[in-house]
Amino acid sequence: MGIIQARGDNELEQSYVYHRDFSATASPIDGEFTFERFSKELVDRNVNLKTVLVGKDAIVVGLGNSAFQDIIYRAGLYPKRKASELTDAEQHALFGALQFVVQQRIRLGGKDQFVDLYGKQGSYVPTMGPNMKDKICTSCGSDIEKLSFGGGQVYLCLRCQK
Ligand SMILES: [Zn+2]
Repeated sequence: MGIIQARGDNELEQSYVYHRDFSATASPIDGEFTFERFSKELVDRNVNLKTVLVGKDAIVVGLGNSAFQDIIYRAGLYPKRKASELTDAEQHALFGALQFVVQQRIRLGGKDQFVDLYGKQGSYVPTMGPNMKDKICTSCGSDIEKLSFGGGQVYLCLRCQK
């Protein structure tokens, strides 16, 4: 997904997109986005995982609700967990899942329901998200549940995500 906006210099401060994508916040494909940096920023945040990964107060840029669901499912984490309370192993799982999802999406040309600028369809299929509605968890066989949370829907497996 992409966006093209033209704004004057004096309008940048009011732009959500500018703050989100051109601030000092780390990009997950940036070499400066290391586990050490990620871990340090997580422990400083007494907020839930969605707030820490998605939106204007996130510690990383570019992730949306879809990537969020996919990442925390892969990391085995419940969406309402507090960032500051994750164990070292959980931090590593989250960092690994985040990098995996971002890299796979780029490698496969984005999600399967979108096309790029040239009309080429992406082939990344999320492991968790709206596409899993009324399905069972591919890992444990439990029914996939839906949670209304943080201004959106989060699909999840209550057995796998703690
Ligand atoms: Zn499961």
